[in-house]
Parts: sequence; C-alpha cells; structure tokens
Amino acid sequence: MASAKVLLIEDGQVDRMVIKGLLSKAVVPFEVETVETLAEALAAISRGSFDVILSDLTLPDSQGLDTFLRVFQSAGDVPVVVLTGSDDLTLAAKAVEEGAEAYLVKGKIDGNRLARALRYAIQRTAAEQAEWQSPMYQLAKQQFLKAAQIVGLDDNLRERLLFPQRTMTVTFPFRRDDYQEVETVFGYRVQHLLTMGPTKGGIRYHEDVNLGEVSALAMWMTWKCALMRLPFGGAKGGVRIDPTILTGHELQRLTRRFTTEILDMIGPDKDIPAPDMGTNERVMAWMMDTYSQQIGYTVPTVVTGKPVVLGGSQGRSEATGRGLVYLIAAAAEHLEMNLKGSTVVVQGFGNVGSNAARFLEELGARVVAVSDVTGGIYNPHGLSVSSLLAYTRENRVLAGYPDGEAISNEEMLELPCDILAPAAMQNQITHDNADRIKCKILAEGANGPTTLEADEILHDRDVFVLPDIVGNAGGVTVSYFEWVQGTQNYTWTLDEINSRLHTILLNAFRRALDRSARQKIDMRTAALIEGIQRVEQAKLARGLFP
Ligand code: NAD
Repeated sequence: MASAKVLLIEDGQVDRMVIKGLLSKAVVPFEVETVETLAEALAAISRGSFDVILSDLTLPDSQGLDTFLRVFQSAGDVPVVVLTGSDDLTLAAKAVEEGAEAYLVKGKIDGNRLARALRYAIQRTAAEQAEWQSPMYQLAKQQFLKAAQIVGLDDNLRERLLFPQRTMTVTFPFRRDDYQEVETVFGYRVQHLLTMGPTKGGIRYHEDVNLGEVSALAMWMTWKCALMRLPFGGAKGGVRIDPTILTGHELQRLTRRFTTEILDMIGPDKDIPAPDMGTNERVMAWMMDTYSQQIGYTVPTVVTGKPVVLGGSQGRSEATGRGLVYLIAAAAEHLEMNLKGSTVVVQGFGNVGSNAARFLEELGARVVAVSDVTGGIYNPHGLSVSSLLAYTRENRVLAGYPDGEAISNEEMLELPCDILAPAAMQNQITHDNADRIKCKILAEGANGPTTLEADEILHDRDVFVLPDIVGNAGGVTVSYFEWVQGTQNYTWTLDEINSRLHTILLNAFRRALDRSARQKIDMRTAALIEGIQRVEQAKLARGLFP
C-alpha cells in the first residue's frame, strides 16, 4: 500500500504531536504536513496535493462549522475527516451531514482507529468517484467502440455489450487476528456476457478495485474467451483491500466471507472464478471449500487455478507466463528476430511476470531488468531468474536484491530492450512515455497496461504489440482445461496441457495477425474484432427473448 499524504489542521500542540506520532507508527506510515490556522490550511490546500485532510474545527482564526465548510469547499475531491472534542459531537455530526467523511473524538483516538478512519475515507472517496468512471473501464469501452466501428457492429449489440449484463456489489466485514478489530470492505462480481455458456474470470484483491475496474476486466475476459474459442462469457471479481497487510488467517476469513456473499452468483455451470492479482491457488482452495460446505458436497469445478491435489490442472499456475512466452516466440519468428541472446525487461514479478521471465531465460534470452511494487532491479549483463525467485521466496519483495542496481518502475519501462513485458498493473504505457519505449516487442502479460493514445504512438513507431487479450490468454485457456478435466473426472498430463495450450494460442495469434495485415489495423483491434465477431454470431443465432 502506498503511503498517503495527510494535511493535519490542528492548533493544539499536544494533539498535533500525538496525532503525528500515531500516524508515523501506522503499518504503512502516513506523510503528514501540519498547519495551525485556517489561513495556512487554505494556502496549503491550494499548493499541495493531499490524499486526505484531518481538521480540527476550533482554530485561532475560525470556529465551528464555518471552519469545516471553508476547508471542505477548497478541498475539491479530497476527503475531509473532522477532529472534535467529546463536548462537541453535535457539531461534528453536522459536519458529516455537510459532507465530512467521518469524525474522530480527540480523547479516544488510538493509532489503529486513526489510520483506519483515514484509509477508509481515502478509499471510499476514490471508489465513489471511480465506480463507473474508472480509467480502466473508459479504456475497455474505447477499445471496444473502436473495434465495433471498424467492423460495423450492429447498433443494438454495441449498446448491449458496452455494459456488463450482471453486477453485484457487496460490503462485508471480517475480523482481524486480534478479534477486536472488524474491517468492512467492498467486494464485486461482474458478469459481462451470459450468451456463450458459464462466465469465467479471476478474483482480484487490490486496494484500487472498484466496479469500473472489475467491469473492464470482465469485458476483456469476454473478448479473450471468444478469441480463444472457449465456451465462456467474461466475468471478474474483486475485493478492495491490500492483501499484503493481511495475515494468512485474515486472508482466509476474508475469502470465505466474500465467497459466501457472492455464492448465488457463482457455480460450476454458472460462473467460475480463478486467481488474478493478489490471489492464488490457496485462495481458490478456500473459495472451493466454502462453496462446497454451503452446497453440501465437494464441487471442485466451481473454481479453477486450485491446487492440483484438489483437482487443479497440471501447468495452471505457470500457464499465463508460459503462454505469453509461446506467443513472444511466435512474434519473434514473425519479425525474424532471434530470441537467443535477446534482452528482456519484465514489469511485475508475481505469477505472470516471474514465470514469463523464467521461460524466456530457458529459451536463451537475457533478462536485464525486473520489478515489483517496491521498484526494479537492473543488470545489463543479465539477472539470474532462479536467484531472483529464491530471493523473493525469502523476502517477499525484490527490494534489496544484491546482483543489480535499483531502478524505478518508470525508468525501467524506458530501458532499451528487445522484449518489454508489462505484467503488473494497468495504465503503464501512456501518452506520456510511449515515445520513449524502446522495445521491439511489447508483450502484455497484465490486463490494460497500454492506453489507446499510447497504442497509436507505438503503432507509428513500429513496436510489435502482443495485446493483453492474446498475450495473457494462457491463464484462462488452462483454466478451461482444468474445468473440462473436472467435469469429466479425468486428468491430462502436463505435455498434453502444454501442447493443447500452444495450439489454441498460436491459432488465435495467427488469426489476429492475418486480420491485422488484411485490414491494415493494429494487433489489438484485430484481436478484439476476432472476439467481438464470434460474440455477435452467437448473439444473433440465439435471438432475443421474448
Ligand atoms: P500477482 O499478484 O501474482 O503479481 C503482481 C506483481 O505486480 C507483483 O510482483 C507486485 O509486486 C507487482 N506490482 C504491483 N503493483 C505494481 C506497480 N505499481 N508497479 C510495478 N509492479 C507492481 O499478480 P498476477 O497474477 O501475476 O497478475 C499480474 C497481471 O496479469 C494483472 O494485470 C492480471 O490481471 C494479469 N493476469 C493474470 C493472470 C493469472 O493467471 N494470474 C491471467 C491473466 C492476466
């Protein structure tokens, strides 16, 4: 979780010191700027960019609700939390009525309560502003509209596919380990398209998750599954929480409660979750167990990406990275580029990024930089992926890895290299840095790493883009194999899995590449059209009820 910037407006010296002390000791410490008067506060607000404002109501130059209103009006989108004495609760309640996010009573603040109130205020405000207006949902819509326009998609279908078919928002509590604190969090499950069969898509645990982001990811799952010709519509789910601050027990309680909240929506013939950012096979095992406990018998096929011992598939955990590398090899062949000795930069060293780096190294490529949320590691002579894996197993993060120099995520994206694989977050390659990206192949492991404006710049600069709905489709493809094996109670070998995966991915890659050459359009739009047209055919074949 990134550290947040707080403006503390408080004239009492003791309160100021206590609050600053508490905020500096939070699990993720806050950056605090303090001011003592309203005039200073208004000046600081107009200068600075704060994530949250914590304001006393009684200041030397302003009193009561007036203080709040002046701060609130100049704060714009920044949430304001009010500090009050225990004799002034009516006033604080009035401030909340007028738009304050919360109030805290000075004598009763402890570190946990304070950090939580601020964190919740920031998250709530971000979510309220972004539920639908999230940049990721805008991107998914823009990409879809561009492809729909080129292909002349029927107006009615365009409207229908622009929004998810079903969405569910839940809020739910879970206990922290001390059994004193209860956190209330938001969760989502979105099903974009129910036409093709059950819906399919991962569950993301991340502090930025909101309805728009989950809807964008669900829409991309629709096009991805259709492009790969899998019998699924797209779905996605998530919980707005930073999982790295939770213990294993907390993560389990959160997962079990979330599963129960969305139980009506999921099922082996309805909607089948899988891992995404912040979740893994352990989380899938808990989801499967919770669902099975409620139904009354074991239902392994309710999730994919579960441990092999519970009916998971051989090769699923590394499938997304492996698939990405199969496709990089195909792109390299198309560009007549030798992978042996080529240089590779990978952003994100989680499931997708670390496996992609590992398989590229196996093919003789030189991995010169990798990164995670703590920053990047660069070594022009090549990093050892097995040593990086051993280091992150021990330390959880890459920070402090000795055999390379530290580099920021931003700098890393701009390193000269043959292959750049963004495999972490969305919105990384934008109008701001696209003209400084120096790779030959941009291989998207992450969902939505490149904006539409950046796409155009990369296209003009002849960077070969392996778009996300092709690049990271290995995950859902082996998830499909896992589901098929589960429904048939029959297991396949790793060789069978990998060979089928290769066939499906390469077939989709060639169709997208052919279309891109034939229609003189970029690879992303070509791949999207392949998916969209299949959905169009299915929708028209089914007709409209009633
Ligand atoms: P993960 O949680 O296993 O790993 C994410 C990695 O990204 C971690 O190393 C984390 O430290 C790093 N990271 C997080 N924020 C970052 C930031 N701001 N800058 C740089 N690095 C950052 O997640 P994952 O499953 O590997 O997923 C990564 C991406 O791949 C996501 O976009 C996800 O939607 C996509 N994806 C995953 C799968 C899958 O099977 N897991 C399938 C398809 C697509």
